[in-house]
This record gives sequence, C-alpha cells and structure tokens, in this order.
Amino acid sequence: HADVAMYSAKQSGRNNYQFFVPEMNQRAMQRLQLETALRRAIERGEMVLHYQPQMELETARIDGCEALVRWQHPERGMVPPIEFIPLAEESGLILPLGDWVLREACAQQARWARAGMPLAMAINIAALQFQQAEFVPRLRQILQETGADPRYIELEITEGALLASTDELVERLDALCAMGLSLALDDFGTGYSCLAYLKRLPIQRLKIDRSFIKDLPGDLEDAAIAAATLSMARDLGMRVVAEGVENPAQRDYLMARGCHAIQGYLIGKPQPAAAFEAWLRQQEGLPGRSEPD
Ligand code: C2E
Ligand code: MG
Ligand code: MG
Ligand code: MG
Repeated sequence: HADVAMYSAKQSGRNNYQFFVPEMNQRAMQRLQLETALRRAIERGEMVLHYQPQMELETARIDGCEALVRWQHPERGMVPPIEFIPLAEESGLILPLGDWVLREACAQQARWARAGMPLAMAINIAALQFQQAEFVPRLRQILQETGADPRYIELEITEGALLASTDELVERLDALCAMGLSLALDDFGTGYSCLAYLKRLPIQRLKIDRSFIKDLPGDLEDAAIAAATLSMARDLGMRVVAEGVENPAQRDYLMARGCHAIQGYLIGKPQPAAAFEAWLRQQEGLPGRSEPD
C-alpha cells in the first residue's frame, strides 16, 4: 500500500518529491511524516468531500451521488485519495477519517433533503472501518445527530471487507439493512470474487469497476465481463451501477444490457457541494438554492 501511495505521488508529477517519494531507506521516515501530517489534517479540518453524480438510465435523472474525500493541503493543493487512503488504512487513521466522512456526507444528505434535493448519498467504507464492532452503533448515532435519512444512504464496501464472511459480518449487514440503509459492492470484479457471498449477503447494488468500462464496447473481454455481470445481477435481483463512464458508446452498451445507473465524467466529475448543487439545479431547471449551508 505504501508503495502504491508513493508511486502515485510520483506519477502526479507535482512538486512534492522530497515529501512523498523517498529513497528506499527513507521510506519509513516519509511514511511517518505523512501519517503525522494526515493526522493533523483531519484535526485542522483540511479534509473536504466532493460529490459525483449518478444517473438512473431509465429516467435519465440524477438520483444520487458518491461522496469522495480529498485533502485540501495548504501548500500542495487538492490531494487525491489514492495518495493518502492506502496509508490511512494501514495506519488505522482511516477510522477517524472515515468517521468524519460519514458525518459530513450524512449532514450533506440532510441539508440537500431540506433544500428540496432528496438525493441518494453513496459513502465509501474501508474494510477496517466496517470490521469495527462499534461501526453500527456509531453510524446510528451519526444518522441521528445529522438527521440524514437512512433510506437515502448507501454504503459502498469492497470485496475485501467481505473476505471474513463470518456470522458476525452477516449480522452487521442485516442490522444495517434493518436500519433502512442500502449496501453496494464497490470495484466489483477486481477482488477475490467469491460469488457465493452474493446470494448470502443483503447487497442491493453492484458497482462494475471502471477498469471493465474503460475499453467498452470495443474490447471483447471487457464487454463479456460487463454483460455477464449485468445478466447475473438481473437473475440475482440486484441493481448495477457502472463507474467511469466517459462516453456515449459506453453508456449505450450498458443501457442495452439493462444497466440501471451510470457514474462517470460523461455525466459529471466530482465537485464540491456548492458547485454540485448549482450544477444539479441547472440540469433540472430548478430555481436557485433555497437554504444556506
Ligand atoms: P471509488 O470508490 O471506486 O471511486 C471512483 C473513483 O473513480 C473516484 O476517484 C472518481 O473520481 C473516479 N472516476 C469517476 N468517474 C470517472 C471517469 O469517468 N473517469 C475516470 N478516469 N475516473 C472516474 P477518486 O475520487 O480519486 O477516489 C479514488 C478512490 O479512493 C475511490 O475509488 C475509493 O476507493 C477511495 N476513496 C475516496 N473517498 C473515500 C472515502 O471517503 N473513504 C474511503 N474509505 N475511500 C475513499
Ligand atoms: Mg466508491
Ligand atoms: Mg469503485
Ligand atoms: Mg475504483
């Protein structure tokens, strides 16, 4: 994971080499620095959420969004999650960070609902977060304190969070569903897919990973995987959202095979709350915002 974070920092080509891309022997030091910086960033309120729209294909309506965290760094600007989420997961900092994300995204769902924009809010939950015994009570408390409507909250978990498919895990998922929340399996197809859990666990949506969407419809293997996922999901009574849809040809291919929703640059990029809201009102020809944050 640390390697991934460093690699991507190098890839991003910003002027942050001394900080994020060390010599081999400096790695431990750099990691520690990043961890400390991240811890402070959470305390100082430097984390922000951007929101990316999701479109229901049947109605062509924006019916939801995904909350995606960024680090608004005082010097480095907007740092993408790939540069800090893996380390946050390794160091355990994902717990306070994930808590903050949950609270902020739930608060935003409630604000938008009050402002006449009842949007579904998809929130990414790291495996470690989900594996905490206190996860369900914490979430219950956050829902209560923010006034978010659980029927509009969807938790995105990855296959990794389901690997230890214990009775306790199943109970946790059932408890979440009983609270009215829904569950989506993120990055579907990229993990150690054990399809048996799909029939055992209360998961309502699959998110086909962007890597399978990227080369649609030309790439025959990706086309086969996307089509098979859609067909299987239909037979299992699950809904599917495709991520990373960038062009109409990809959308049309997915639509023709019964995909329920899409998310990607074709519809819109992730944006800060105010920009997202303005964009949405414009899309729907709604009047200007009715309530301040
Ligand atoms: P993800 O949950 O699979 O989110 C989708 C990622 O794909 C986002 O990247 C989004 O900006 C990007 N994306 C969406 N549409 C397109 C497209 O059409 N083309 C391309 N090229 N990319 C597209 P982002 O925001 O950089 O997030 C990356 C990953 O970081 C997320 O992948 C998720 O795994 C993680 N992440 C983000 N926010 C959180 C969070 O609050 N908590 C946790 N645990 N993980 C998070
Ligand atoms: Mg996601
Ligand atoms: Mg995903
Ligand atoms: Mg992904």
